[in-house]
Amino acid sequence: MKISWTGFSKKSLQERLQILKDYHLLNEDNQTNLEHNHMLPLSTADQMSENVLATFALPYSFVPDVVVDEQVYQVPFVTEEPSVVAAASFAAKIIKRSGGFKTTIHNRQMIGQVSLYQVANIEAAIKNIQNHKQELLELANQAHPSIVNRGGGARDLRVEWLNGEAEFLVVYLTVDTQEAMGANILNTMLEALKTPLEELTGGESLMAILSNYATEALVTATCEIDLRFLSRNKSEAIDIAKKIVLASQFAKQDPYRASTHNKGIFNGIDAVVLATGNDWRAIEAGAHAYASRNGSYQGLTTWSIKEVTQTLCGEITLPLPIATKGGSIGLNPTVKVSFDLLKQPTAKELASIIASIGLAQNFAALKALVSTGIQHGHMKLQAKSLALLAGAKDTEIALLVSQLISEKHFSLKRAQEILENIRQKS
Ligand code: NDP
Repeated sequence: MKISWTGFSKKSLQERLQILKDYHLLNEDNQTNLEHNHMLPLSTADQMSENVLATFALPYSFVPDVVVDEQVYQVPFVTEEPSVVAAASFAAKIIKRSGGFKTTIHNRQMIGQVSLYQVANIEAAIKNIQNHKQELLELANQAHPSIVNRGGGARDLRVEWLNGEAEFLVVYLTVDTQEAMGANILNTMLEALKTPLEELTGGESLMAILSNYATEALVTATCEIDLRFLSRNKSEAIDIAKKIVLASQFAKQDPYRASTHNKGIFNGIDAVVLATGNDWRAIEAGAHAYASRNGSYQGLTTWSIKEVTQTLCGEITLPLPIATKGGSIGLNPTVKVSFDLLKQPTAKELASIIASIGLAQNFAALKALVSTGIQHGHMKLQAKSLALLAGAKDTEIALLVSQLISEKHFSLKRAQEILENIRQKS
């Protein structure tokens, strides 16, 4: 069934939930959970962390009709930042009309490391490890047999000598973790390798832990945007496209800009990572390390113009070790709603969706920055936040917001004064 999302953002919360119901986007349990705001129960939260006192809520939204590899997804977002969902929805709509996103999963394996120090004979130690590679891989698999039964397991092992301020012999283990992110799987395997590696090298192991620099879990998303969607005026559209290309080049050259460029990308990525119960610290750490792989911190996207097709081409590549199993994924009812909304994607499909959202968010931010400027769209949202902070009721918000915008004077004090005025007049 073709779904029309026109005017969705203008509808009331109840009307939006009714639309999800009418289109059967969620199963009955999840629809009920959303309608009654049945989120994480306190008893479950108490099992997830320590010293728990309460749960902490954030807005749960979604971006409709994101087309990734010819599939249409309704993508859940958890974010407190105004305009992020609106910007992603705007970009997703334009990119859908231009054929959607195409993605490539380069690989999906996790890397962990055992670092050894005080190794007397480095050359002999490296040789010894290489000669016992198969046995070490088998030992790793024996430490976590269930992932082997699921079709995954240790795949490769390599060793490197780091000779800097201190000397380390580092053993890197690569593991296929299937649908899991794999931190616990890797850590179990690596700990099992510590003693055998000490025996093989004569050194001491310092630590055995997963690396979040997941260079064996890279995902690329691309899109080609028809220039006519940038502006009705052809020369203005070309001008915007050229400036978007320049903006991506600027973010490759200036780390001050790159940091903000990538923050915008993570506005979307983090929102979906959170909504799907994944570890956003792990995703951020890996992607920022990847952004620095050339020796300086760079923007994660590249934009270019294809003259023949008159399209603006975007590309993002980053490590996305996304999971659909493990961690808190099965525990949080809202995460279950997210997976239902997304039609139960695999870990690879979810990584493709998340990379595409990152590219969409970047497109929306760059287009705004090089044309109207970011503040233009933010003004109304800023005024709305001030109205809420000033204590305006639902019936007072619209008037207070419009007065703040017309005055272009955004301060809490001014919002409170206007609100008082409105109340005195009514
Ligand atoms: P878990 O150990 O929670 O879950 C993985 C388990 O899920 C597997 O061992 C497997 O157990 C089960 N499972 C069920 N179905 C599948 C499937 N199809 N594919 C794979 N596994 C499946 O999580 P991870 O090992 O993934 O670790 C992630 C957690 O670790 C996150 O909560 C993260 O925050 C945390 N963490 C992160 C660190 C980091 O990033 N540096 C460090 C330490 C922890 P079985 O086969 O036995 O059923």
